[in-house]
Amino acid sequence: MKKKLFALTCLFLACLTLVACSKQSKTASHKLSVVATNSIIADMTKTIAGDKIDLHSIVPVGKDPHEYEPLPEDVKKTSQADLILYNGINLETGGHAWFTKLIKNAHKTKDKDYFAVSDGVDVIYLEGQAEKGKEDPHAWLNVENGIIYAKNIAKHLIDKDPKNKAFYQKNLDAYVAKLAQLNQEAKEKFNSIPEAKKLIVTSEGCFKYFSKAYGVPSAYIWEINTEEEGTPNQIKQLVEKLRQSQVPALFVESSVDERPMKTVSKDSHIPIYAKILTDSIAKKGQAGDSYYSMMQYNLETIYKGLSQ
Ligand SMILES: [Zn+2]
Repeated sequence: MKKKLFALTCLFLACLTLVACSKQSKTASHKLSVVATNSIIADMTKTIAGDKIDLHSIVPVGKDPHEYEPLPEDVKKTSQADLILYNGINLETGGHAWFTKLIKNAHKTKDKDYFAVSDGVDVIYLEGQAEKGKEDPHAWLNVENGIIYAKNIAKHLIDKDPKNKAFYQKNLDAYVAKLAQLNQEAKEKFNSIPEAKKLIVTSEGCFKYFSKAYGVPSAYIWEINTEEEGTPNQIKQLVEKLRQSQVPALFVESSVDERPMKTVSKDSHIPIYAKILTDSIAKKGQAGDSYYSMMQYNLETIYKGLSQ
């Protein structure tokens, strides 16, 4: 009898273990594994997918997404990912092309495993350029493009994980409505600022898409982060340009070295008004810690700075 009881107990424990194991592997295999190259794309993806996916974001908050050295963790997650989302148009693939190398090492295929979330935006090129590889990547700084990004992300999530289609679609619809409202506000935001003061001055020339969408011209020290940043000649040229304007404020991005802009400020006698968020969202808990709030923060901060 004792022997029988022992055998039964063993069987029972074995069953428990089996159930536990299968449950564990089921949950693990059920969640789509997604990698996003930076904090902006990761935030959009999280807004749409919530906890239906396992999400890994590569370039940390506050760091430059143009040039990056992936960590062993990034390589591992990318190799194992079901879906990889990157900006494209010369962001992660420009300069030393960290993403191109990463994706090659991970043996992933374009438009099967990894997708550019910028697909479908009206591309603006670097000054005097018009060819592939010479795009200005900062399309997300126009909220209308942010909506295109969000729709692309949702499409890929649905394609890879159709059982959660209704969930993704519902979140996308709410998100697009919110972004469309913000975009509408942005279109009217700068109407009251006098033309002579209307110039967004940043370190990197990342405001082309924003400028075109919201009618505020922009100027910069260097055009893109993959070039030389803040040479004496670049600084001199910007200071000369500023002498001919009545711009009341300069801005510096959270993800660049602020020293060149400090020199511009000293030489032009125009103060740096605030830090803005261009290539990264803010740290959790700070103003601008999502794509939506980063754009809201930028619009408000630029407006206040220029309307002084
Ligand atoms: Zn940039």
